[in-house]
Amino acid sequence: MKALVYTAVGQKALREHPKPEIAAPTDAIVRVTKTTICGTDLHILKGDVATCKPGRVLGHEGVGVIECVGTGVTNFKAGDHVLISCITSCGKCDYCRRQMYSHCTTGGWILGNSIDGTQAEFVRIPHADTSLYPIPAGADEEALVMLSDILPTGFECGVLNGRVQPGSSVAIVGSGPIGLAALLTAQFFSPAVIIMVDLDDGRLAMAKKFGATDIVNSTDGTAAEQVMKLTGGIGVDTAIEAVGIPATFELCEKIVAPGGVIANIGVHGTKVDLHLESLWDRNMTITTRLVDTSSTPMLLKSVGAAKIDPKQLITHHFKLDDIIAAYEAFGHAAHTHALKVIIEN
Ligand SMILES: [Zn+2]
Ligand SMILES: [Zn+2]
Repeated sequence: MKALVYTAVGQKALREHPKPEIAAPTDAIVRVTKTTICGTDLHILKGDVATCKPGRVLGHEGVGVIECVGTGVTNFKAGDHVLISCITSCGKCDYCRRQMYSHCTTGGWILGNSIDGTQAEFVRIPHADTSLYPIPAGADEEALVMLSDILPTGFECGVLNGRVQPGSSVAIVGSGPIGLAALLTAQFFSPAVIIMVDLDDGRLAMAKKFGATDIVNSTDGTAAEQVMKLTGGIGVDTAIEAVGIPATFELCEKIVAPGGVIANIGVHGTKVDLHLESLWDRNMTITTRLVDTSSTPMLLKSVGAAKIDPKQLITHHFKLDDIIAAYEAFGHAAHTHALKVIIEN
């Protein structure tokens, strides 16, 4: 089968790869119909993710059709249309019983990391019963690709951990796909103010369309002052970090209001300074989380009921044969204005 393989640091190739086979009774093989590229895939290619070794098929998002299932799979059969969760969960271990699927002792984030992923014609899904979701008949499968990772990530790590509430104030630092997913799902709770911060005017314009009440371009280094001005000098109840670099986390430290929350989403590769000298008396909380995808069933219903439209995040379409071009478009988002790219088989 064709697959996008991480071949060495900085290198990838679309090449022939053995088709996956059932390895455990709880496995399913899924024919991938649509997948996408995540910022995390770019981190892997840079060599930032030690658990992902060269030779690995990348990708942890997608929808598809079940090709075959192991003897232990009871929820799914060949021909079923399924949403693939970026998090694999056994449903039985200590962490899974606490809905902390991201830390499943035989799962978690393994797809396109420690086992082959979804940027291929076929993918093996371990613990299929508890790691796949049936797609309701008539659903827009392209929109549902956004539910594999970015929507639950923005919602759980940003909005839920950030305790967004009716009438509250929120700043989202980073207007990329994850920041925009947080922006879309924050509106479930009707906050009064949602300030979007980014370096790129194009992405900020997009944020305005998606429901941001205010936008702040941080290029000139005055983002903190601008957010304080917009909030009457108080700061925000929820500061969501959606980039993963020291400057954006430190901005959150400057703009969080007393009693507020800094909800980190970003994948950080270097240390960040914690300014306890200015935060120790602020009754504030810092949260971190790897997405558990425990909100996926709720998000499926919300999308089905048109309460939220994640399709707005899709800007480009490619065939699997052109996945290298898809990586080019996604990797140079400032020029191409790419948010999420759909790759079809
Ligand atoms: Zn991802
Ligand atoms: Zn588990």
